[in-house]
Amino acid sequence: MNSKTISVLGASGSVGLQALDVARKRGIKVSYITANTDVKQIEALAREFNVKAVAMACESSALDLRRSLADTDIRVHVGKEGILEGISEAKCDAFVNSISGMAGLLPSLEVIKTKKRLCLANKESLVIAGELVMKSASDNGCEIIPVDSEHSAIFQSLKSGRQSEISRIILTASGGPSFGKTKDELERVSVSDTLSHPTWSMGKKITVDSATLMNKGFELIEAAHLFGVSPDKIEVVVHPESILHSAVEYIDNTVIGELSLPDMRACVQYALDYPERSIATIERLDLFKIGSLSFKEPDFDSFPLLSLAKRAAILGTGMGAVLNAADEVAVEAFLKGRLSFNGISEVVTGTFEKMTDAKGASSLSELLEIDTLARKISNSLIEE
Ligand code: MG
Repeated sequence: MNSKTISVLGASGSVGLQALDVARKRGIKVSYITANTDVKQIEALAREFNVKAVAMACESSALDLRRSLADTDIRVHVGKEGILEGISEAKCDAFVNSISGMAGLLPSLEVIKTKKRLCLANKESLVIAGELVMKSASDNGCEIIPVDSEHSAIFQSLKSGRQSEISRIILTASGGPSFGKTKDELERVSVSDTLSHPTWSMGKKITVDSATLMNKGFELIEAAHLFGVSPDKIEVVVHPESILHSAVEYIDNTVIGELSLPDMRACVQYALDYPERSIATIERLDLFKIGSLSFKEPDFDSFPLLSLAKRAAILGTGMGAVLNAADEVAVEAFLKGRLSFNGISEVVTGTFEKMTDAKGASSLSELLEIDTLARKISNSLIEE
């Protein structure tokens, strides 16, 4: 459709900045941007793209930004409610939701109400409330196009066959910086080891999630909702080079996958332009330079969060909300040095086992309650 004007939610994060880079290189207009607290960066971006409106989740940051932009006619929305207000008012063809974590859920639901295209990088929207988000999108006739690289690859690979012809989804994982380590070795893994991802450059939370394979677990839940496939049909394959971004196997055993350099700008661009393609903003794939691609089985014992996510996907939406909340709390504690690497999976698993009653939940109010309770339980497990 070649989006002419876009809005970017979570504009100061890694994917948000790459989405804006696509806009910059392609001359796409940006009408609305949001962020959490980064006043200086948002001010600079607002001026560069001459946006109509901005919003900041943090209220005092929003008020600072309003003062900094006083010489312009850019509207500044305040707080989480303000972000939603800005979405309903924004004049654009598509929204990129690259907010990190639970905070992205209500914005996704608000975008869906506008019936404009939702280019979704916030996987938590689907992890926490997959059924609700997908149903609301279909009721509103809103297209959700994935920006997560694996899901973009699957989405593209699905153009080669029918839904009834899918036999398996191959979800690739780089394995992260801790791939190949035993459980004992993982106990001594530090924050800085974990934050140095070999192939992708991303925000801190998702980099830790890549190392624990929680991110891959979330992506499994995300794929099950987005593509309407049973979690049993999704197989995770470790592929350290991050060149094959995922693939679909059809009933004739033909596998169709998408290969490109690991660069989120390709995924953003595809989501904005689908069903068309446009000239690349990323470099060409040089197969001679890459030489070989390798594939390995994930180690389910050292990385228990992957199987836990599959269980959550089978049990139902509420369990995704538990996983996400517990993981947000545990990763924050790990980054602050209050929890070891293995402690993350212990806290998430402990919270999960205490909350299996959550499995039937599907309404927004139930899911929000589950989120609050799961955070409380995780915090108490960390303090033990
Ligand atoms: Mg991904």
